[in-house]
Amino acid sequence: MTTYRELLQRTRAEINELDASAAQNLTDARWIDVREADEWQEGHLPGAVHVPRGYLESRIEAAAPDKSAPLVLYCAAGNRSAFAAKTLEELGYTAAYSLVGGFTDWKRNGLEIVMPRTLSPEKRTRYSRHILIPEIGEEGQLKLLDTSILLIGAGGLGSPAALYLAAAGIGRLGIVDADIVDETNLQRQIAHSLDTLGTPKVDSAKRAIERLNPDVDVVTYRERLTSENIDRILDEGWDLIVDGADNFPTRYLVNDASVWRGIPVVHGSIYRFEGQVTVFKPHDGPCYRCLFPEPPPPELAPSCSEGGVLGVLPGIVGSLQTNEAIKLAADIGEPLVGRLLLFDALATEFTEVKIERREDCPVCGTHPTITEYIDYVEFCAR
Ligand SMILES: [Zn+2]
Repeated sequence: MTTYRELLQRTRAEINELDASAAQNLTDARWIDVREADEWQEGHLPGAVHVPRGYLESRIEAAAPDKSAPLVLYCAAGNRSAFAAKTLEELGYTAAYSLVGGFTDWKRNGLEIVMPRTLSPEKRTRYSRHILIPEIGEEGQLKLLDTSILLIGAGGLGSPAALYLAAAGIGRLGIVDADIVDETNLQRQIAHSLDTLGTPKVDSAKRAIERLNPDVDVVTYRERLTSENIDRILDEGWDLIVDGADNFPTRYLVNDASVWRGIPVVHGSIYRFEGQVTVFKPHDGPCYRCLFPEPPPPELAPSCSEGGVLGVLPGIVGSLQTNEAIKLAADIGEPLVGRLLLFDALATEFTEVKIERREDCPVCGTHPTITEYIDYVEFCAR
């Protein structure tokens, strides 16, 4: 029978150990903290990635994909990290080191540590289904809570976006809309209800959000976006824009402002049974004007009064926009940059079309010809 002490001694003899100064000299090393979550919360080494010992085998490849790159593993005293180093050796890691003395010695020697921000117990409960996903976790949830998103429109697309962004814990939501809730809205605009008929949509949406999640700070703008007010609104600091506008003058204004300010826009549009979603990330991908440099001539514009839309369609498209917004906020996944996603509700078919940035784009191209806002007059084909 082998005792714990004997096993530890044997393991330490078989692996590579480093003390703090030798480990610090190891340039480009990735630091892995193998302690438990409560230990990590009380402080960790700068730049370290948290992979608890119990999840080491299943999560290490995501945290350290290059098996030949140096890895410094640490725990509280250097024992758990010794076993962890042994495991990584067996998984084919060729430069895994265990830090002698662990976090305790590091801290005792006065070396730098980082105190992580943490969620309150209430927030940890509310967002537990996010926190359980390794790609989001507590860190990702903190990013969402730190994010400010501006919603253009509190109608069909804005409704699901407002509710899901609020539920996800986006810390600050701005809503721009000049309209009043009427009966024809209730077929699809789920943020509103009979209780709020006749009230401004921004106030109705704010009420719905506050009933759902008091963590969200809601800022309302009961106005139509124009060249006069767009800078004032954008000056209030938005990390990204979810565009649910139903008219092209607003889309062009949002586009031009977002390119000049470098704010990503999650774009969505709907018509009858068809929806479109994409992400315009300034200078990383195309913008709206790379697709449509100018508004369509009046004879090609859709009829405003006869447009019509299947009630659930904005729910689907607005939710896809929200998915993109959450990914951008948490910095995960592959955003729909340079990809236009088309949805056909009758066939239940998604089609993806590649869209390219245009050198000659009048706003984001190499020689922009549009350098100030244009208020297009909205018109409808009869
Ligand atoms: Zn462009």
